[in-house]
Amino acid sequence: MNEITTIGVLGAGTMGAGIAQIAAEAGVEVLVHDAAEGATQRAQERVGGFLQRRVEKGELDANDAADALGRIRPVGSIEELGQADLVIEAIPEEIELKRDAFRRLDAASAPATILATNTSSLSVAGIASAAGRPQRILGMHFFNPVPLMALVEVIAGPMTDPAITDSVALFARRLGKTPVVAADTPGFIVNRVARPYYLEAFRILGEGVGGVDSVDDAMRGIGFRMGPFELIDAIGADVNFAVSQSVFGQFFGDARYRPHPLQRTLVEAGRLGRKAGGGCYDYDADGGRGQPWTGLARRAAGPQPKRLDAAQVEARILAAIVNEAASAVADGVASPDAIDTAMRLGTNWPEGPLAWGERIGLASVIHTLDALHTSVPDGRYRATPLLRSLADQGGSFFTYRS
Ligand code: NAD
Repeated sequence: MNEITTIGVLGAGTMGAGIAQIAAEAGVEVLVHDAAEGATQRAQERVGGFLQRRVEKGELDANDAADALGRIRPVGSIEELGQADLVIEAIPEEIELKRDAFRRLDAASAPATILATNTSSLSVAGIASAAGRPQRILGMHFFNPVPLMALVEVIAGPMTDPAITDSVALFARRLGKTPVVAADTPGFIVNRVARPYYLEAFRILGEGVGGVDSVDDAMRGIGFRMGPFELIDAIGADVNFAVSQSVFGQFFGDARYRPHPLQRTLVEAGRLGRKAGGGCYDYDADGGRGQPWTGLARRAAGPQPKRLDAAQVEARILAAIVNEAASAVADGVASPDAIDTAMRLGTNWPEGPLAWGERIGLASVIHTLDALHTSVPDGRYRATPLLRSLADQGGSFFTYRS
């Protein structure tokens, strides 16, 4: 495999600009193309501003910053990106737009050029099949903001040549990132294993056994930087709901991933989070967090259920995420180590869910899941067979051999 010295970036928006920046800082030549008038120039200005702030903080030499910026070169057509050793696509999340781009990139590039998509929710196979040589196409899923987030999910599609996956993982390291290799499955690692962090929180709310602030307090209390509801306000309730729906659909309506009606309530009410001035919480004009939004409060009409204490909230949410991480292992999405690394670096969780599950005891996780499954037996709480068998044998994900 030839060394990657020049990359192409298609789409100079939030992600494309970040990718161009880190590559240029790593000494890679970067060609950038965007369909919108002035977009590449705006991206250069944004990167320039970011680098300048680092110079002012004394983190970067002024000459190095100027050299990095000089390595980013706008080009006038998608075809010109074909000169690069690796092209990373970061255009909007629309399958036909991406398939068309890959058709054109495939036609314009040399056989050795690697083509990567930064898609967060579409299948790599669905994009790659538009091209004549799908074996050189894979996913390279960066996280926002790219210069600050250490993780890259390298997504091997069913047609991707394994040697290409290896060389892209190596290249991600050259960019200063930690790559994890994952299979081309719904939500890959992070957007799949993170689902129950939100969903279980909404279920607790919907049952009227916990409140927005008590759930957030409980999860912060065990080391999460943000509780599920404040995190939704940071991400955007619309983005959170869209990812939930996408993963649910791709699993053909499996109850485990079913979005919660309260997610739709937030979106329909325009309570999209901090960017809208209100979401799960109210915010004052300076962005200070106020009270939980009353529209999310639920009270049963009949006998009042008993409120959960913090330990019960934690047990439910942790059991759900450990179960999902175990199901990702069992489905061959990635190795246990890769899954734990991805969740620590991609979501800033304080500990990987599999190691965490083992620390609190897999038997106790199974106990929580089984109790929930008894009260709501629609499959959402079914324990992953691998998790149950490890719990029964006192085994570990990290030393497991079939
Ligand atoms: P964005 O809207 O900020 O940028 C997209 C850019 O693509 C725009 O500048 C637009 O003008 C350009 N564009 C649109 N159609 C084009 C075409 N046919 N050819 C060339 N340029 C075109 O979007 P973004 O947030 O940077 O997201 C890009 C991709 O990265 C999406 O697939 C998204 O799902 C994924 N992603 C986004 C995030 C995030 O947090 N923003 C995180 C991970 C992955």
